[in-house]
Amino acid sequence: MPDDTRELPLAFHGSFTQQEPLPEAAIEAVANVMRSGRLHRYNLAQGEEGPVSELERAYASWQGTEYCLAVTSGGQAMQIALRACGVKPGDKILTNAFTLAPVPGAIEAVGGQSILVEINNELRLDVDDLAEKARQSGARYLLLSHMRGHLCDMDSVMRVVESAGLTLIEDCAHTMGAKWSGKRSGNFGHAACFSTQTYKHMNSGEGGFLTTDDPELAARATILSGSYMLYARHGAGPDEKEFADARLNMPNCSARMDAVRAAMLLPQLDELDANIDRWNARYDAVSQVLAEESQIAMPSRPHQESMVGSSIQFRLPWANKVDCETFLARAADRGVEVKWFGRTEPHGFTSSHHSWEYIPAQPLPKTDAIMSTLFDMRLPLTFSVEDCVVIGRILAEISRDMAPAP
Ligand SMILES: *Cc1c(COP(=O)(O)O)cnc(C)c1O
Repeated sequence: MPDDTRELPLAFHGSFTQQEPLPEAAIEAVANVMRSGRLHRYNLAQGEEGPVSELERAYASWQGTEYCLAVTSGGQAMQIALRACGVKPGDKILTNAFTLAPVPGAIEAVGGQSILVEINNELRLDVDDLAEKARQSGARYLLLSHMRGHLCDMDSVMRVVESAGLTLIEDCAHTMGAKWSGKRSGNFGHAACFSTQTYKHMNSGEGGFLTTDDPELAARATILSGSYMLYARHGAGPDEKEFADARLNMPNCSARMDAVRAAMLLPQLDELDANIDRWNARYDAVSQVLAEESQIAMPSRPHQESMVGSSIQFRLPWANKVDCETFLARAADRGVEVKWFGRTEPHGFTSSHHSWEYIPAQPLPKTDAIMSTLFDMRLPLTFSVEDCVVIGRILAEISRDMAPAP
């Protein structure tokens, strides 16, 4: 019998960046595309539909929109959506101060001016600040980012969108499959953008979708994506007559999705609903442990929201910068990889507006205060629900040990 009977501290050994393999059906479909040699979306045999077009049709039907265009990334989907909605260089575009760099990047790429809007403690857009900045700036566009899956309060957002006459584009990179009062994220605005980059809800390495119900917007987006004059070969595109204006006056941005990526995405769409349930089971497992801890503040999840818990966020409101660094290091020592949005220098992510030096600095005291103690963790499906309980317990123990006495 060892005389040291102390328990070893709980540790975790999984990888926070390891994805599940793609379904066998995806591997088979990709191999078939490669055997055919026809990798370009328009390189089709007589009468053949092709996987890109088939995917667009399937995604439009799943999402419940008229039109879907598959493109090379979520970032490209946003750039194309902005242009297709009429954004011209110099136009002001409202967007979340807390989002990932491709969002301000898309605004910058089309020559727009980003007007950053504060977030609230729930990590959603601060709708009062939105209304105020829409009024002050006279901006006519809102690129709304449902950052980290926290769907904005769509009732309040839509009231401002309507009263200020904004054109709304939704960034649904983290809310593919989420709903607000039963309506899918992405179906509130003029257009929505999705990402199929590896860390999102479907995985083609890189990739994205633009969805809309507006036929002329869809036509402009299709020409912008670089459809040459082959736009009639789209599975979920508008009627040929809708292209009358767009066909010769929209520049080609060469952002078409290829057949390989579409072939690997089609079988994943069949698994998406089941995967959403699997993510939520993992989210619930961590959040139930963390919610017991008074030193941890969890963003609340409004009853109107049905979410996709592919990542989890929490704050340590009592922590200063040194505490936050210590917390990260102690979690890492026990195998738990947490990100902290309060770092001065961007580190493995670019979600702080302070590191977007290409846009004029804007005072965002509320967002800064929230981000200074905000932590974030991915929940890949390679983790079991039991893994997630262990992860939650490790974070609970460390934060309990560090927090000042109540
Ligand atoms: C990933 C992401 C995007 C799109 O990213 P791409 O890598 O260009 O597909 C957009 N918004 C947010 C918030 C994201 O995390």
